[in-house]
Amino acid sequence: MKNTASNRRKFIKTTATASAGILVFNSQPAWSSPANNGAILAIGAHPGDGMFSMGGAVAQHIANGGTGTFLSLSLGEKGHSSIPLDEYGLMQQQAMEQSASAIGANAVFLDYPDAEIPFNEESSLAVCDVIRSVKPSIIITHWEGSWHKDHVNCYHIVQYARFYAGLKTLAREYPAHYAGQMFYAENWEDMDNFQQDTYMDISEVYDQWIAACAIFPMWRGETGFRYNDYYQSLATMRGCLARFPKAVAMMAAAGQSVQKIKKF
Ligand SMILES: [Zn+2]
Repeated sequence: MKNTASNRRKFIKTTATASAGILVFNSQPAWSSPANNGAILAIGAHPGDGMFSMGGAVAQHIANGGTGTFLSLSLGEKGHSSIPLDEYGLMQQQAMEQSASAIGANAVFLDYPDAEIPFNEESSLAVCDVIRSVKPSIIITHWEGSWHKDHVNCYHIVQYARFYAGLKTLAREYPAHYAGQMFYAENWEDMDNFQQDTYMDISEVYDQWIAACAIFPMWRGETGFRYNDYYQSLATMRGCLARFPKAVAMMAAAGQSVQKIKKF
């Protein structure tokens, strides 16, 4: 790959929590202190995907002492039927920055066009570079069973990116890093053959997370889907099944729950 290709895809914006300071990708990440409980990286095709379907787990991980970063592959600028693309993209970006900050997380973005996120070597390596920079122990992203092509592509991009990020012999700007755990989020658009196997108690952070979601205009249903009702009801329903007041359900990546035993 030529430099010109990789240079096209810059992090167009980064934000950081007040405690972490401004996140600078060329310097040592602020969360590398030994007291840290590890980083989680939530990778969504669009900002709303990250906060609505992955944000509960991110908020809880932060409350548990870890750090969180949201990566949006696009701004989701084509998601509103009457607001001009540039204007809506900026609204989406600002909503993501503010909501991430509200739960103590960082937000970074790549600038692929909404509905046209490509699955190729360039996009896979761009996400690889973010993984190597953030150094997450956990990745949460889309499940592949989606009607939305950006979500399907995001799933495949992340598979490649995680592999590339961990490949020590692949020289990039940052050294290799392998994210040891990966989960797929429960997203209303990605439910084909989604089989939840992991429930996380988010009761402690539920109100904070919902308040963060409400920063997005689309949360209230103005783009045609009642995100607020859906994700609040889902957290209650998953909580009922898991015997927690509120929960999110996730699907572990294949092989992650393999048991190695000598006898039953
Ligand atoms: Zn989406």
